[in-house]
This record gives sequence, structure tokens and C-alpha cells, in this order.
Amino acid sequence: MVEEPLDEIVYCRWHPKVETSLRCYQCGAAICSKCARRTPVGYLCPDCRKSHTKRFDNVRIYDYAIAAVVALVLGAIASYIPLLPFAGWYIFFVSPLAGAIIAEAVSRLTRRRQSRHLWKVVVAFVVIGSLPMLLMYAFGGIAVFMSGNARGVWSVFFALIHLPLVLGAIIYRMRLR
Ligand SMILES: [Zn+2]
Ligand SMILES: [Zn+2]
Repeated sequence: MVEEPLDEIVYCRWHPKVETSLRCYQCGAAICSKCARRTPVGYLCPDCRKSHTKRFDNVRIYDYAIAAVVALVLGAIASYIPLLPFAGWYIFFVSPLAGAIIAEAVSRLTRRRQSRHLWKVVVAFVVIGSLPMLLMYAFGGIAVFMSGNARGVWSVFFALIHLPLVLGAIIYRMRLR
């Protein structure tokens, strides 16, 4: 029986002249510290890192179209939230909830396929869907300031704060996947 030495000298698969003791946790390839990428579970070699990224980015091209349509429609509907008769501080709860619903709807309709870029599409189309309402609020805001209506100023404030709350919730739910 041949006992394997504990400190076997191995050379990096990508840099055959560099000695190393690191190994890729997925394929076991010897890797030098330059090639190794630290992950929460261990070191990854360049090859496994590539397939890792591919697996992470597995959305189909039509997923972007689905995300765009869902974000446009739901974003447009959500932009009416500040107009509800009981408009007020509840917006700090309802608007992020709307964002979470939009993110969840997109995630389900794209069968939870992952992408580092999908959230950007959703954010962009929620903004586009909200544009008509934003313009209305902007003109309404001018009218309110001309008339000096204090209650109207608040409703414009809530209207302006609505969109960042929605987008914040979407980014929070979709970005760090
Ligand atoms: Zn590997
Ligand atoms: Zn190397």
C-alpha cells in the first residue's frame, strides 16, 4: 500500500509552473491563488466559474418580453395607488407591496429562471408604465402650488414617493438572486 503524502506538490492547471495547494471544490482541479475564486462554499476554478455563471443566467430571451409586459401593465395599475381615496402614509406599506407583487409575478411567469439583468427590464418598464400618471401628478402639482392647497401638496408628495418605493422593493427582491 502506498500512502499518499499529505503535502503533495501540485501545479495549477492553468499555470503549470505555479505550485499550489488549492483545489477547485467542484472538479478538484489544482488552482493557484490567481485562478481561484473564493465562494462561500470553497474555491472555484476558472472553468467551473464559467459554467456557474451560465447556470445563474438561464433566462430565455422571451423572459425579457414577459417581464417587460408584466412590469408595464402592473406598473401602470400600481401608479394609481396614490390616487386612492384614503391616500396617506399607508403608501409606505402599499407601494413596496405592489413592487413585491410585480417582482413575484415576473418571477413566476418566467418560471423562476435567473438573470442578473431581468430586474433592470422590470424597473425600466414599471417607470414607462407609470409615466402617464407621473405626468398627470406633475401637472396636478403645478395646479396645486398655484392654488396653495395644503392637502393637495401632500397628495403630490405621496405620488412622488410612490415610484421609488415600488422600484426599491423590486430591486430588493430581484437583484440579489
Ligand atoms: Zn473546477
Ligand atoms: Zn493558475
